[in-house]
Amino acid sequence: MSTIRVRFAPSPTGHLHIGSVRSAIFNWLFARHHKATFLLRIEDTDIQRSTQAFLDSQLASLAWFGLMPDEPIVYQLSRQEEHLKAARRLIDEGKAYPCFCEPREADEVIHALEQGAGAKYSGKCRNIAPEERNMQKPHAIRFKLPDSLSTVTFKDVILDTVSVSTDQLDDYVIIRRDGTPIYNFCVVVDDISMKISHVIRGQDHVSNTPKQVLLYRALGEQEPLFAHIPLILGPTGAKLSKRDASVSVEEYRAQGYLAEALFNYLVRLGWSHGDDEVFTRDQLVEVFDLDHVGKKGSIFDSKKLQWLNGVYLRASSSEKLLGSLDLIDPVYRKNLEAAWSATELDALLTLYKERAVTLIELYTAVHGCAAEPTAHDVSLIAKWQTAQTPAMLQAFIDQASALAVFDHDALAACGNAVCAEFATKLVALAQPLRLALTGGTVSPGVFDIMAILGKERSLARVQVLCDALV
Ligand SMILES: [Zn+2]
Repeated sequence: MSTIRVRFAPSPTGHLHIGSVRSAIFNWLFARHHKATFLLRIEDTDIQRSTQAFLDSQLASLAWFGLMPDEPIVYQLSRQEEHLKAARRLIDEGKAYPCFCEPREADEVIHALEQGAGAKYSGKCRNIAPEERNMQKPHAIRFKLPDSLSTVTFKDVILDTVSVSTDQLDDYVIIRRDGTPIYNFCVVVDDISMKISHVIRGQDHVSNTPKQVLLYRALGEQEPLFAHIPLILGPTGAKLSKRDASVSVEEYRAQGYLAEALFNYLVRLGWSHGDDEVFTRDQLVEVFDLDHVGKKGSIFDSKKLQWLNGVYLRASSSEKLLGSLDLIDPVYRKNLEAAWSATELDALLTLYKERAVTLIELYTAVHGCAAEPTAHDVSLIAKWQTAQTPAMLQAFIDQASALAVFDHDALAACGNAVCAEFATKLVALAQPLRLALTGGTVSPGVFDIMAILGKERSLARVQVLCDALV
């Protein structure tokens, strides 16, 4: 087993965001590619905003993608004693100190900023000798920025070397006055404990990294190798937001996107392998590495995702499609199986998946043509309707009812013969037939549908429209 260990660390304060899950995918692929370990840590220390419902939703989304960790899930909140222990160790070693200052009010900070003093901590408690500290008094714990340090430099697989001046830092709080550790501190203590070798996460974390690097070094550990991946952007070039597109995995699942398609789409946002677009998971495991991750943000393209979903729908067997529908809501499969025989259902799914974009669209179409259309919207065929349309439909019914074999080719021959007889194009017959059969004028080949519905059901539907048009 490789010593490479990576983790995905979401906070259960909302449904899983697609930007977040792309980080999970990159971590997972990197781990699989290197035969390494993929871990999951739930950062649930924000007890105001973390909920069990969001946690369940996020775990369901990860399971949907097949991104399960190789070791038991680590819950950050359960490690608070470890965080405090690490902070006390830093105090003992003179690398952190208790700060007894009252928290500054917002207007005090604003005043300080106006005076040009910045919002930085004054350093008031930095030099209180250990024996003079009254540890009974409420206090926060601050990290003591090393005196001689002027820049913090760290290696990043994607951004190369990143250097930040310590002018931008102050003695930052690691444990709040209420005894809870801050984010940057928990992350470091936990990543050390979980022996994480590579931290692969979004570029929105770059600004946290200098503080974290200093904490690794203070704790006597080599920092991991960082890989800050570019953000997913909306069409305006700003970070993708709810206004641009659906942003939670849960929404895409409910809309009828296949996990494989969304997975494939998200991998290609920020990573490339030549001009290839469609990959099986095994192919991705084989070719994925961090050296082909770009530096710049990638624009989310709903159209391309739709195209890719269509590719995956067409490649899926009927059984697989029904299984995927089941994952959205078991009622879909039940409805289809109540409406169609197994053979009919397979034939319809095969026919309709050729043009469907989502599973829900596919379901709606296949389920929709089970019911005999009741009221026809004849305005849909106004373009093709003439005085001879009823007679033409009747001629088609008469000839088709005499067919010994009611299949696509026989029906097509019959349709062509009727059109020749009425000196019209096939579309002038096909569109009224579509309306009669499905209630609409957009569907797969009309003779294919008739062959699946069978002679009796098909011709009865055509007769209803024919009678209505007379
Ligand atoms: Zn202080």
